[in-house]
Amino acid sequence: MDIIQLLPDNIANQIAAGEVIQRPASAVKELLENAVDAGATDIKLLVNDAGKALIQVIDNGKGMSETDARMCFERHATSKIKNIDDLFAIKTMGFRGEALASIAAVAQVELKTKRAEDEFGTFLEIENSTVTKQEPVAFNNGTSIAMKNLFFNIPARRNFLKSNTAELKHIIDEFIRVAMAFPEIAFSLSANSNMVYALEAGTLKQRIVQILGNNYNAKVVAVQEQTDYLNIYGFVGKPDTAKKTRGDQYFFVNNRFIKSAYLNHAVVAAFSEMIAKDSFPMYCLFIDLNPAQVDVNVHPTKQEIKFEDEKIVYAFVNSAVKHALAQYSVTPTLDFELDPMIQHLDAVAKPFDDNQKAAAQESILYSGFTKSGQAHLIEANKNYSGGSGSGSGFKPFKSIIDNPETYERSQSDIDTIKGQRSFELPAAPQVSACFQIHQTYIVTATQQGYWLIHQQNAHERVLYEKFSNAFTGKAIATQQSLFPTTIEFSTADAVLINELMPDLKQLGFMMEPFGNNTFVVHGTPADVLQGNEKDALEKMLEQVKHFSSSVKFSKRELLLRTLSLQHAIKAGTALTHQEMQQLVGDLLLCSVPNSTPNGKPTFMPYGMGELSKQFGR
Ligand code: ADP
Ligand code: MG
Repeated sequence: MDIIQLLPDNIANQIAAGEVIQRPASAVKELLENAVDAGATDIKLLVNDAGKALIQVIDNGKGMSETDARMCFERHATSKIKNIDDLFAIKTMGFRGEALASIAAVAQVELKTKRAEDEFGTFLEIENSTVTKQEPVAFNNGTSIAMKNLFFNIPARRNFLKSNTAELKHIIDEFIRVAMAFPEIAFSLSANSNMVYALEAGTLKQRIVQILGNNYNAKVVAVQEQTDYLNIYGFVGKPDTAKKTRGDQYFFVNNRFIKSAYLNHAVVAAFSEMIAKDSFPMYCLFIDLNPAQVDVNVHPTKQEIKFEDEKIVYAFVNSAVKHALAQYSVTPTLDFELDPMIQHLDAVAKPFDDNQKAAAQESILYSGFTKSGQAHLIEANKNYSGGSGSGSGFKPFKSIIDNPETYERSQSDIDTIKGQRSFELPAAPQVSACFQIHQTYIVTATQQGYWLIHQQNAHERVLYEKFSNAFTGKAIATQQSLFPTTIEFSTADAVLINELMPDLKQLGFMMEPFGNNTFVVHGTPADVLQGNEKDALEKMLEQVKHFSSSVKFSKRELLLRTLSLQHAIKAGTALTHQEMQQLVGDLLLCSVPNSTPNGKPTFMPYGMGELSKQFGR
């Protein structure tokens, strides 16, 4: 006897529905997206019992003809693609023609729809994939789809649903993702007849504030980069709005919400030192690019997508966010400046003819992101030749200069550091070959060209990391003064000094209160010049006070930044060859070697390709 049979349509649909409709929220997403695709300007979502009893979406979009109204519930019935090429040029949210067929297979559905050109609309009732009723109806232009008793015919699935609270949370998440992507459309959500959201049409910023709360009103920074390859726009929260819990983070590619740990990394890395390591910045970013460059079809619920060139997208996102944050200056005196990655953005901004591609490949941005599979995967610096033997990472700049024989560094140091670095060095320089120009810049050769290093910026970075390390590892050594100094501060400053005291000790300041706002300083960090204690501390206080009024850095972070700023060797200082080697070597060991804590570039890489071209070779 033959045993193979074709499954009846309704069962086949039920099985297929498992892919598309896992829970009420999946149906919400599909229905909302259909309404968006229909060109609606006003979309209402109503749910009862967290969608288990009712999910209804009412839109004022273009509606459907009577025939289309019946057709739309057929599997693979779609008005959005006609052939396989269309699949790679999709501008709509839907395209598979599966959602309504799936919904009709797992719920009782009522459809009302009317086009502007029709006098009457169509009313349809469907259950188990079969039309049970059809009649003309008086209705506004647009479509209303109500689905009742989700999974009424599949008890096993119904039993899998979570509590109403949990399912409603999923629904709200989906609602927000769609509403965020289309601020020009009015959306509302009511649950059990209570209005949860009533979002007016407006700008993206208004939508963000409507959804995420008023506290973001003055607290977002616009991101906006347009290139021939892709456009990035949207907003990121200012660093002080970063939260302890993941949450307000949204990525949209061609208006489709996506989850991407990779791109999330690109954004968070751009915030690097502006937020605490374990906190999450708000972002709502849109990437628009030629649909042919993305494959939205890789995942049935379409939250994962594939980019044709993921690394370029990473680099753009990272640069765009950095650029945006750079414009949000930390203080009037200490502006962020563009970091080298952004300054080279242009090199890949129009990369798609061969010349430009060649130029792009010389740029730090490209080499940083295309060599290894992922941008944050750091490879050991094979070119590094800064000595051998065992070293313990950072050594105070001055003390090493005093004792040159302690200056040793090994590949294993670099390997240790590389795991923390969020940035891949483009062809690191040969430390042995460097020279100084204008007592300000260090030129050092790399395998593919040379680096121009700004000595002050570079040293600021080196000191900053050294000081920061004092809080995670060993405190900084104190250089004891021969003659302790007493310093008297104003009452307000004395309060601040007391507050900073534990941190100051960790950083190598040995000091004690001596009554009446006076302090005795017995020692200073090993590389702060002696005799300058009073001066150094006063300047430091002044900076900390100045910063703290305008930025929400912790006092400690302010202290670190101030100290490194203050004690960095200045431009205009002659350096010996050994000092230069030391500095470049130290810089290479930094976890973020390419910029100062405030975002100024520490070096500019130049490629041989660029040079040859300039010389017509
Ligand atoms: P897809 O969105 O992938 O095309 P669906 O099953 O979600 O597949 O919808 C099938 C078709 O029904 C759509 O292509 C569209 O033509 C029509 N349709 C669905 N919802 C609406 C709506 N709210 N307004 C107008 N037409 C709709
Ligand atoms: Mg659809």
